[in-house]
Amino acid sequence: MSIPFNRDSINKWTEISKILFKSYGVIPYKLIITISDKDGDLLKNKAFYDLYDRVITLNMDRAENEKDLLTSILHEIHHMIDEKKLGSDTYDMMYQHEMGTRNYRTNKFEVKAEKFALGEVDSWTYLIHPK
Ligand SMILES: [Zn+2]
Repeated sequence: MSIPFNRDSINKWTEISKILFKSYGVIPYKLIITISDKDGDLLKNKAFYDLYDRVITLNMDRAENEKDLLTSILHEIHHMIDEKKLGSDTYDMMYQHEMGTRNYRTNKFEVKAEKFALGEVDSWTYLIHPK
């Protein structure tokens, strides 16, 4: 079941994202919540962090379910944590180097981000269905 794309859902995921950004001490310049036919993203990402514009884009229709979307946000947050730790230019250089010598799936920044997201997601699932 995919996630609905309507005002309530946009508000909900904006709030969840803000809580997560604050908790991990990273702040994107902008958060875009959209559906994939509007984003022009050929890579078919569920979520994407644009390092140059510091924009996070979430594609509601590509996530399989809400936990999957939550995991994707945490994945992108880890990219921001790495960027913050290394500095933007160094992170960009090292990321590009990884992409040049490996590929997306074995890129160490991608592997680390996914591991982080899967390790953290269960402590945040309460945000999906608040009491
Ligand atoms: Zn990634």
